[in-house]
Amino acid sequence: MNYFPVFFNLSGQRVLIVGGGEVALRKISLLERAGAAICVVAPRVAPEILQRAASASLSISMREFLPKDLDHARLVIVATSRRATNRWIATLCEARGIPVNVVDDKHASRFIVPAIIDRDPVLVAISTSGASPVLARRLRERLESVIPKRFGELATWLRELRHSAAVKIKGSADRRRFFETLIDGAAARRFITGDRRGAERLAQQLLATSSTAAPAAGEVVLVGAGPGDPELLTLKGLRALQDADVILYDRLVSDGVLDLARRDAMRICVGKSSGAAGATQAQINDLLIAHAREGKRVVRLKGGDPFIFGRGGEELQALEQAGIAFSVVPGITAATGVAAYAGIPLTHRDHAHSVSFVTGHADPRGVQPDWRALAGAAQTAVFYMGLGQAAHIIERLIENGAPATRPAAAVARGTHDAQRVVTATLGTLLSACTAAELDSPALLVVGDVVALQPQLAWFNVATHDDLSRTA
Ligand code: SAH
Repeated sequence: MNYFPVFFNLSGQRVLIVGGGEVALRKISLLERAGAAICVVAPRVAPEILQRAASASLSISMREFLPKDLDHARLVIVATSRRATNRWIATLCEARGIPVNVVDDKHASRFIVPAIIDRDPVLVAISTSGASPVLARRLRERLESVIPKRFGELATWLRELRHSAAVKIKGSADRRRFFETLIDGAAARRFITGDRRGAERLAQQLLATSSTAAPAAGEVVLVGAGPGDPELLTLKGLRALQDADVILYDRLVSDGVLDLARRDAMRICVGKSSGAAGATQAQINDLLIAHAREGKRVVRLKGGDPFIFGRGGEELQALEQAGIAFSVVPGITAATGVAAYAGIPLTHRDHAHSVSFVTGHADPRGVQPDWRALAGAAQTAVFYMGLGQAAHIIERLIENGAPATRPAAAVARGTHDAQRVVTATLGTLLSACTAAELDSPALLVVGDVVALQPQLAWFNVATHDDLSRTA
């Protein structure tokens, strides 16, 4: 991150603007709203700026800039049409430690000014760190259309309600819940549509019942985080993450998904890999139960889908025995997510009429997959946790009748930017993976559908030539 986002209280503070044109005028309008004491220095000044000079918060010096203009300035905005002058002034500011922005010159600027969505007191500021102002503008347009016009008034109303909530609802967790119910429910909807009285009535009702209700019991939501790309999280999963008090997550969960969680939520990495011992699982169960018993909203976040090689079922059994309420939000499992991003359709009318999800991890109790069935024609087999066991898997398949020429692929870090796809055949997959130095997490996909990959690859493919390459 190259920039630290802040909101600057400039009320009554001296802000110097060097330049008197169109750009200066735009900055002046915003700074006036922020209550700054604005000084404009420029030999020529646009008529609109002159008109504003009547107001007490704006003074104009119609001359060239002088270094003494920087005295007592809290912030400086430089917007003359001469680049060399702009840079000289920026250097002076830097020497004196005054934050400076040179319009359209991010290299000479100490701070940059974001695109904003203004629902005062709610302000949304957007920056691409100067990478693409057009992209920032597009994002702003999109947010403009989804953030209701009365959002600022809603915030003001909620601020007013804080006092009565503080008097009537003692616990801070209960107070947060009261506001969440208010904001997510009918009261805020009414307010947004303009029915302020209706909203007020609902809020008072809610306030009356919140103060008497017993403290809410905790619960656990088992959430599938998907295979990596955070945008593959479901809307329900997102909501659960944003409501969570505590999040227990696996090592497989991507940082991008965790970034979507409520900032204040306690995050606990239970870092369970596929081979973890039973004690670890028992500890996880205990943690889930302990936090839920404290009345917390607990999210158990797992890579992919919690019910597919995720021990989700075992954790729910423990919760059920402990009498803890739970619910499940499915996720996109690695097989479907990774296959989609790798360009391998798992079924196809010409190539595969069924697909199996198989664990490649050797079961200590000796339960073996039905190798004969998996080796059969016209179907797809996807092996989870299979990279380390690839030699064994390939051997079993060939032993049970699969031809060595059957197409096979390994996909590592699927749906991530670092996704890598190796396509080969059963006979050559092992050496291809070794040559490509593929690492976990990775899936093995075996079946004729893999032959379609060069034609259907679309994600992270740089040029058309790449389509015919492996790795
Ligand atoms: N519950 C998870 C699977 C957990 S088992 C799900 O539904 O996806 C862990 C295995 O999943 C890994 O060993 C690997 O085989 C596979 N896997 C998970 N994420 C993956 C990814 N982004 N790319 C490739 N394989 C992945």
